[in-house]
Amino acid sequence: KAKQSGKRQVARLDGQGAAPITRNALIRRRLTAAFESRTFALNYQPQLDLVTGDCSAVEALLRWNDRVLGEVSPAEFIPITELSGDIHRIGEWVIDQACAQARQWLDAGEPRSIAINVSPLQLAARTLVPQVLAALAAHGVPAELLQIEITEGSAITDLPRAIGQLQALRDAGLSIALDDYGTGYSSLAMLRDLPLTTVKIDKTFIDTIEDSPQDALLVGGVIDTAHALGLRVTAEGVERPGQLHLLRAMGCDTAQGYLISRPVPAELLPVAQPC
Ligand code: C2E
Ligand code: MG
Ligand code: MG
Ligand code: MG
Repeated sequence: KAKQSGKRQVARLDGQGAAPITRNALIRRRLTAAFESRTFALNYQPQLDLVTGDCSAVEALLRWNDRVLGEVSPAEFIPITELSGDIHRIGEWVIDQACAQARQWLDAGEPRSIAINVSPLQLAARTLVPQVLAALAAHGVPAELLQIEITEGSAITDLPRAIGQLQALRDAGLSIALDDYGTGYSSLAMLRDLPLTTVKIDKTFIDTIEDSPQDALLVGGVIDTAHALGLRVTAEGVERPGQLHLLRAMGCDTAQGYLISRPVPAELLPVAQPC
């Protein structure tokens, strides 16, 4: 069966029986252990404000260092939690953890806003808004310090419900970013229909703006379109000074990428600017 599905097989590592299982199945099993032993962590990647030079906004990125599997990328394990349904409790943990961190920064006299990634499945469930509001209240964090990042595309199956949840979050004071912009489809409809505050242009477009005049024009066009709609624009995956230079010239609002900083544990974020 595993052969038919073409999945890479790995030997069982727990010594129980001889049948090989797929890496996906192993990840799924180890995730259960992860919940019990709390091996998740959030890293934070600063976002540079290209106008003010401020770096106090960060994106929270989930990290999982498993005893057996080692570091597993969220790009690999999040889709598995979406299939298993674990995304809901892991998503709730991320929201709570981010709010706890926001509170710590407030207490330290150095407030930072935090963007958290939310799965389309969390948007589809009715629990997202109550979870977010409960976490903000529990930690005494102003809603203005939290941004929700969503991804566009086919995964948003019930658009009216997604819009309703996002609007409720907007009404509560949160900002909403459309992540990985340009990679999915129906992008223009999403810009029009979702109650957004921010558009994040995907790294694949930022990668080539120095070499491809066409991509530079596309990025410039997205920036102008977003601004015309009253939205802020963040460029993802900025790795070279030349990209930053071009993005600033194009009027991009915020930049994020290894050039500025990799995602790091909270205690490694630069204290008191600049990043
Ligand atoms: P994303 O939200 O688009 O996050 C950006 C990804 O690009 C992150 O990968 C980040 O580490 C990486 N990145 C940032 N700057 C650069 C750069 O200059 N160069 C390169 N090569 N990469 C850069 P990461 O942390 O592996 O996360 C991958 C994806 O997993 C995220 O993409 C997001 O979709 C998802 N994810 C991460 N954390 C969470 C979470 O808490 N919940 C959910 N639902 N998804 C998450
Ligand atoms: Mg993101
Ligand atoms: Mg992204
Ligand atoms: Mg992504």
